[in-house]
Amino acid sequence: MSNRTFAIIKPDAVRNGDTGKIYDRILKSGFNILSAKLIKLTLSQAEGFYAVHSERPFFGELTEFMSSGKCMVLALEKDNAVLEWRKTIGATNPIEADEGTIRKDFATSVGENAVHGSDSDENATIEISYFFTGSEIIQNS
Ligand code: GDP
Repeated sequence: MSNRTFAIIKPDAVRNGDTGKIYDRILKSGFNILSAKLIKLTLSQAEGFYAVHSERPFFGELTEFMSSGKCMVLALEKDNAVLEWRKTIGATNPIEADEGTIRKDFATSVGENAVHGSDSDENATIEISYFFTGSEIIQNS
């Protein structure tokens, strides 16, 4: 079981001024932040990142939204990180998200749902390396 996952504070949350509050939730939930940066995805970066959803009807909406403004990408560390972060963010649709989860508190719709979390250890590794070089991952401080 891996101890790393990949997170995004999505453009809706950054636009709404929630970056700091979500960053605080990450720390209070016991994650060690290995790296973080504020970026604006190009449409083609968003299409590459979400390639697995390319046949879905919402693909255009999703990739336009994800490239519509600044977002914060993060590499996170914790025991059982993938599952722990998915529990911290809650269900994809905020209506179905549990009380106290980030999506319950900050998401407005299934599309604009404030945060991303990897769904497997394999994808966490792929997603971290999509945005971070090895030297940007800070392990020992
Ligand atoms: P996640 O792993 O919880 O983020 O959910 P998925 O992997 O199923 O979907 C990826 C992302 O696509 C979600 O976080 C949403 O931003 C978006 N998405 C999923 N379903 C819909 C939908 O029905 N409409 C729109 N506009 N976006 C969606």
